[in-house]
Amino acid sequence: MIPFEDTDIVYLKGVGPARAKLLSDEFGIKTFRDLLYTFPFRYVDKSRFYRIREFSGEMPHVQVCGQFVQIGLEGEGARQRLRGIFSDGERLMECVWFSRVRALKDFYKIGRPYVIFGKPSEYRGVWSISHPEVSDYDSTKPPTGFCGVYNMTETARKKGLTAKSLGTLARTALSHPGFARLRETLPPEVCSHYHLMPLSETLRQLHFPTSAEQLRKARERMKFEELFYLQLNILRFSRERGRRIAGIPFSKIGPKFNDYYGRCIPFELTGAQKRVLHEIRDDMRNGRQMNRLLQGDVGSGKTMVAFMTMLMAVDNGCQGALMAPTEILATQHYETLRGWGEQVGVRVELLTGSTRAKARRELHAALESGEIDILVGTHALLEEKVKFHRLGVAVIDEQHRFGVAQRARMWSKGTTAPHVLVMTATPIPRTLAMTLYGDLDVSVIDELPPGRKPIDTRLRYEDNRMEVYRLVSNELKAGRQVYVVYPLVKENEKLDLKSVEEGRERLIGLFPEWKVGMVHGKMSPEAKDREMGRFVRNETQILVATTVIEVGVNVPNASVMLIENAERFGLSQLHQLRGRVGRGADHSYCVLMTRYNIGGDTRKRLNVMVETTDGFVVSEADMKMRGPGDMEGTQQSGEAFDLRVANLATDGQILNIAREAADKVLNGRPELVTAPGNDKSLQSGVIEISDASADTLTRELRYRFQRQFDWSQIS
Ligand code: ADP
Ligand code: MG
Repeated sequence: MIPFEDTDIVYLKGVGPARAKLLSDEFGIKTFRDLLYTFPFRYVDKSRFYRIREFSGEMPHVQVCGQFVQIGLEGEGARQRLRGIFSDGERLMECVWFSRVRALKDFYKIGRPYVIFGKPSEYRGVWSISHPEVSDYDSTKPPTGFCGVYNMTETARKKGLTAKSLGTLARTALSHPGFARLRETLPPEVCSHYHLMPLSETLRQLHFPTSAEQLRKARERMKFEELFYLQLNILRFSRERGRRIAGIPFSKIGPKFNDYYGRCIPFELTGAQKRVLHEIRDDMRNGRQMNRLLQGDVGSGKTMVAFMTMLMAVDNGCQGALMAPTEILATQHYETLRGWGEQVGVRVELLTGSTRAKARRELHAALESGEIDILVGTHALLEEKVKFHRLGVAVIDEQHRFGVAQRARMWSKGTTAPHVLVMTATPIPRTLAMTLYGDLDVSVIDELPPGRKPIDTRLRYEDNRMEVYRLVSNELKAGRQVYVVYPLVKENEKLDLKSVEEGRERLIGLFPEWKVGMVHGKMSPEAKDREMGRFVRNETQILVATTVIEVGVNVPNASVMLIENAERFGLSQLHQLRGRVGRGADHSYCVLMTRYNIGGDTRKRLNVMVETTDGFVVSEADMKMRGPGDMEGTQQSGEAFDLRVANLATDGQILNIAREAADKVLNGRPELVTAPGNDKSLQSGVIEISDASADTLTRELRYRFQRQFDWSQIS
């Protein structure tokens, strides 16, 4: 007999073949389980009706009852919209629709009692809701209380599903007699150990919460479930990995490394750099593939660590590759490394998208014959034609710009998997790193080279603008350069943001004696590179930019980073941007410009920047305070892992617990590890589970990961 949860959705009351196809096509719902695991993306409190006069800035979705006093079409063609004036008997507000306007125009009647529902926003003193949900007011119907909102697609709507359909179907499934037979997805031993809500109750609460507290518990259980299986899957492969994936053993520290270190190195390494080099060396020596994440704040000296790591490869008859996310950055790395390499007879070359065909052919040949020791480049390094003689170590700078799939391609370039060192200036907690990158080991440079002057960071408002420009002017006169960064390219009518173009015009007007360049996301990569190049060469002194200004780009002469509408940026982003200055000048400034009336949370966030220049402190604060946004990179990964409730950026605590739980379970069930070897247990103790529970784990792992790219097995 087919288990209840695996039953084809077509057998659910209210679903026929046509609807089953629609559910499958639009929402990936094929079985009862798929339906029950399609959760509302938001919950709203429909326990009462709001008055328009109660509306305020931070309103969630609310319901209002009243009637339309006027409704009509405005504008022409694609711009056409439907505007309704809605009265709650006391005040007026607007309802606006931008699509299906003709149909809706005749649908809603003036003077009839309706309940409208949506998120109010204010513009010039008028409250409005766009695309409100409208239903007939029924005085006999009690308020519904908590209510989930499901995702809907345009196609599904056209084919007859309404916003409520998924909820109705979920209710049908929850009250199906078979629901009593629903199988637990977590071992009962784990549920009781961590005091988790049982699955059936969890699903009920997630679809139809009875209270905020029950909903919270249900979400917690579901987050745990998602993260537990994610960790279990990673751990069962990673424990084995140490044995399975051979790496090139770099047994000797040879002449190049010693020569460079003894004779040429331009500065004393920091203690942290030395420690990290030891960790890397130990890791590459033992015949297993290194997979290491190197975290180090902006300016902590990761490039030297990368270079010396590649020297170890060269000393052992291998080559090194360094991949950077942009052409500018690759070129800068190349210039640095070529200078260092020259001193010890190490040949460094550059390969990017704009390398000419002839030079490219020569590079390819020299690379394959092993004449090139270190190749620096962009993702052009990953092209099929690029063949290394013997790639020993691949270093990837600023990893978050590269997909993991690209990383995998790079790995397969050697016959034996090369060692991999991924460098990032956006530190993330260890468990998260291991989750995002499989079984990555983590090294941390937690010390800056001596003599760094902290960047003077200031929060400034519109009132202070002239003072800020005076600072800019003084720095320009002292021969320095200035970045001015804006959050958006094209001014959005509603958001009163100064666009890059406008900003540029203004700066040209204010500083006629200086040249102003501009880079933004809508420019071609070549045009961007050209503009960046001009700034690097000091042909322009002010660079107006969106955040496209390249991560890691080095213009030591720049001393001011002026960030407009700073409240629109994430903390990590602000820290990255700030890292563009303070690279040469005696005194550098980062000015965060905002409107005067920013909210308390925003002010708190920006003050973190003012109070610390330590990237680790910034990123920790970022994780803690993050609202609806996501850490860079984690959102996509969340999708790749099919996380529906858990959020990798903000659920760090549950992630840690889930990892510990997975480890404890595996300790008691070594046969679940793909090949028992078990040299990497976290040794956190054991949770003994029954055979039936072990079957549950196997079943769930198969269900969750069979269709998926297996991250740990790439190489
Ligand atoms: P990041 O970690 O941001 O990539 P870089 O590798 O670009 O930092 O280093 C920043 C600057 O610090 C470079 O100019 C580099 O030469 C210099 N540097 C690196 N290590 C040291 C050190 N131990 N002592 C002094 N300067 C150093
Ligand atoms: Mg760098």
